Amino acid sequence: MNKIILNSNEVPKQYYNINADLPKSLPEFKDSEEGGNLEKLAQIFSKEILKQETSKKRYIKIPKTVRELYQAIGRPTPLFRAKNLEKKLNTPAKIYFKREDTTPTGSHKINSAIPQAHYAKKEGIERLTTETGAGQWGTALSLACTMLKLDCTVYMVKSSFKQKSTRKTLIELYGGTILASPSTKTEYGRKILNKNPEHSGSLGIAISEAIEDALSDEKAYYSLGSLLNHVLLHQTIIGQELKKQLEIVDETPDTMIACVGGGSNFGGSCFPLIKDKLDGKNDCEFIAAEPASCPTLTQGEYRYDYGDTAGLTPKLKMYTLGKDFIPPTLHAGGLRYHGISPQLALLVKEGYIQTRAVLQEEIFQSGKLFAQTEGILAAPESCHAIKIAIDEAKKAKETNTEKTIVFNLSGHGNLDLKGYSDYMAGTLIPNSK
Ligand SMILES: *Cc1c(COP(=O)(O)O)cnc(C)c1O
Repeated sequence: MNKIILNSNEVPKQYYNINADLPKSLPEFKDSEEGGNLEKLAQIFSKEILKQETSKKRYIKIPKTVRELYQAIGRPTPLFRAKNLEKKLNTPAKIYFKREDTTPTGSHKINSAIPQAHYAKKEGIERLTTETGAGQWGTALSLACTMLKLDCTVYMVKSSFKQKSTRKTLIELYGGTILASPSTKTEYGRKILNKNPEHSGSLGIAISEAIEDALSDEKAYYSLGSLLNHVLLHQTIIGQELKKQLEIVDETPDTMIACVGGGSNFGGSCFPLIKDKLDGKNDCEFIAAEPASCPTLTQGEYRYDYGDTAGLTPKLKMYTLGKDFIPPTLHAGGLRYHGISPQLALLVKEGYIQTRAVLQEEIFQSGKLFAQTEGILAAPESCHAIKIAIDEAKKAKETNTEKTIVFNLSGHGNLDLKGYSDYMAGTLIPNSK
């Protein structure tokens, strides 16, 4: 079977919470030196989200409204087998991929945007503020807010804002308001622009602006698209669907791969299968793929750090390149972040997840091969996972090993043609990371 689908009524009824099963307990948030950051959390997040963040309950019920919206956007998403890619690589390995590119906003981000908007609405909130890097999260939250009748303000990293004007149109079409960050709307943005009017921004700065905005409006909450436990929790609908789909074709994966920015599509697709590994039910290896130019997992330090640049968030124990790290502008904008999910970090530290860094040239090469064999134009972010899947399939050929490789296709690249066209024209910066 090339395409494995589930019915609408098979959308999961619960989120899977890996906090219940982690091999060590997760280090708690720490307040900033001056204090006050922990308190701020209650002002910017809904009560339900904060409860989920620290919950140890293994399964958390998905509200009916949220489940219905998942069905409305076409979930469950299909699982495909990449037979043409297998043939092209002449590998004995089987390659499957979960298609989060099929959601209306083109990536997995909508899976967390919907519940976050739902919980805020239930608590009487009128507006959500957020940041976006490549634009996928901002797009998803704009749609979710419109679906749940909330306003949405998106701070988009200025370098992406300039590079990707189509994203701005999309966010506005879905009903959101978008500002290039650093912006003049917040004190923090103005401070940065005063020092350097040409500042190209970063995710860390955009987060600081969105939090400041939410703190100054009691009818607004802030919403984060990755990194935190509750976001990974929501994304576990991917992995739960995936497990069912693999059972249908009687497969247990030997290798699972996903790209990592903050860790949400990785956690979402892999945690339900990592649970099986922790329970001794599979012996799968898990590989996290990141850009060599923003090597949080492969070169960062495991320590406490802030989630944003201004230091408004509590400190999280994670791998980090430092909150002031400004990654170079790269086409996989969704992977330009200095930190990583604390849950994912713990599992990497404890040896349950391997990590690989990939060069920009290699991801487009893999994306081209994937487009020519499977017909799908993958997001540059997702191409990191494809690159590793191809490497693993080639290794299987060398050792003549039949194995099952599964990767998460986190999004499509139809709005990322600039990166592909630079690659095709040979104008990617040579040897760029
Ligand atoms: C945002 C994004 C990512 C990276 O974020 P994670 O939280 O690590 O998943 C990867 N792929 C796509 C398509 C994205 O939109």
